[in-house]
Amino acid sequence: MKSFRIYIQIASLLCLVSLVKNAVAQKYPQGYFRYPMDSLPNFVSPFGVMRENHFHSGIDLRTNGKVGLPVYAAADGYVSRIKVARGAYGKALYIEHANGYATVYAHLDSYYGAIANWIHEYQYMNQTFEFDKIFIKPFLQVKKGDTIGLSGNSGTSSGPHLHFEMRDSRTEKIINPALFGILPIDSFAPEINNIFVYKFVKEGLILKKQLPIHSKNSNWQAGYLVASDTLLLDADTYGFGIDAQDFIHNGKDPKGIYSYSFWLNQSHKFTHTLNQFAFDETKYINAHIDFPYYKLEKLRIQKCFVDDGNRFSTYTTDAGKGRVHFSDAPSLGFLIFTVSDANENVTYLKIYYKLSSSQTDLEKLSYEKNLEGKPCLIPGEIIKVEQEGFIASMDEKSLYDTSCYHISMYPKTLDAFSNIHSFHSYTTPVHAAFDVALELTQPVFGLEDKLVIAYAKTNKDAFNSIGGTYKNGWVYAKASNFGVFKLMLDTVPPKVKRILPKFIGKSSDTLSWEFDIRDDFSGIKSYDVFLNGRWILADFDAKNDRLSYLFDEVYAIERERLLHPENNQIDTKVFKVLVRVIDHRGNKTERWFDINP
Ligand SMILES: [Zn+2]
Repeated sequence: MKSFRIYIQIASLLCLVSLVKNAVAQKYPQGYFRYPMDSLPNFVSPFGVMRENHFHSGIDLRTNGKVGLPVYAAADGYVSRIKVARGAYGKALYIEHANGYATVYAHLDSYYGAIANWIHEYQYMNQTFEFDKIFIKPFLQVKKGDTIGLSGNSGTSSGPHLHFEMRDSRTEKIINPALFGILPIDSFAPEINNIFVYKFVKEGLILKKQLPIHSKNSNWQAGYLVASDTLLLDADTYGFGIDAQDFIHNGKDPKGIYSYSFWLNQSHKFTHTLNQFAFDETKYINAHIDFPYYKLEKLRIQKCFVDDGNRFSTYTTDAGKGRVHFSDAPSLGFLIFTVSDANENVTYLKIYYKLSSSQTDLEKLSYEKNLEGKPCLIPGEIIKVEQEGFIASMDEKSLYDTSCYHISMYPKTLDAFSNIHSFHSYTTPVHAAFDVALELTQPVFGLEDKLVIAYAKTNKDAFNSIGGTYKNGWVYAKASNFGVFKLMLDTVPPKVKRILPKFIGKSSDTLSWEFDIRDDFSGIKSYDVFLNGRWILADFDAKNDRLSYLFDEVYAIERERLLHPENNQIDTKVFKVLVRVIDHRGNKTERWFDINP
């Protein structure tokens, strides 16, 4: 009888999970899009993998360490956007399709055909390598399977691959490509490594327990993984967290978690499903995970409850947003956690709980006592925090959860032109960047425009510029993190070096000129290269500090002129190359290079 009841429970849960999945699968066109490369579909990093400040918004297609593999249009359409950047997606292309979806191809090495020609012309016309151009009407049209570019490693990329994305053109939301049927079927169910038990306190939560889920302390019963120990809880408010992983193929490639849910005594409390999300909400990952734990332990625990300031659209929850008030729950019962992938492979974990007779929770008491008298920041409120020469202004969207803070000053150092302010802790996440202002405490004799606000996680870490604008003795900037702030001066211009080709020979043996450009503090704002006085197109790859000019028609014309001076009025026998780099504080470097044709 008992086993029959368990069977009914599983059946109803399975039903519910698959109902949700089917509704999703039918919504997206199947067979419309093709895989955008030749190689067999395998990936480095799938959709939704958790990263610093974001969920991975596409899939990374493996190119076996190579650049220059053809990239194909996934379906008929037209080029709707071209973005070229020194970082981020590097060289990216967006294609709009007639069925209301757009595809994105990023980190390209180069563009192809008519698209490449248009870009080259546009860059010369506007004298810029970097640009972001949106096309409202069809202009550059493509057919499914047309080569649109070659795969590469441009922008913020840690190795050659194609980043491929699918978007809903109307909502601009990013969609899980697995839902379009262009990816291989995955037959491995996700695994749960650990369940974390949190108790809610006056502000935030405290981690009470970690339950490792492996064969020693759990076993399979009727399709469920059942923890062998009963979880002892107080009649208090709890939340749960999950550390899970998913695999594709032979288990070598870890994936992001597509969906997980939490149930209490068969009533649904929380589900998170990564079908789609908007770019402006991807930073909610910092509220989605136990952020302090991640900052300290480097493990991302996904929470089964929603913070008040967390507006991520991927959740469905009960009224308590996944929190459980065990004072209202039966004294004996069970928790169920499910983790599933986009191919409906599901792992169910069941944990029995028992409420213990009420005892004072000393840990909770001492935690709450520690907060007494501390000022607190509250999500949804506008808050201004001040101390001598420091103002921080937070808006409604700055925080995810109530957070009590500490503010203090460090003794001044020689490089500081303000007091050194410590505001709260880098382990507390910030959603929308907040305003900070620091007061100048000593004269800088006309160098006010060289001042920047410098930020570090703690006073022992390296300081980085977060920029800033000077006005009436104060510098104003936006801060994305809590930590330590001070004013510093940047008066050092960027450095420019030529990287000579590896082999010694004439420059005509190479296909490009390469320069190493870097700035030690405020960062590079602009860079330009001129050949015999003419602006030439140089690619800037920020991750390698590399500026490269790939020989093009300007080189060919100038070379012709140098080699045949009798036909042209020319007074030089070498290429006169000027590299000009300016940082964010207006410090400028101009270097001339004489290069033999
Ligand atoms: Zn990617």
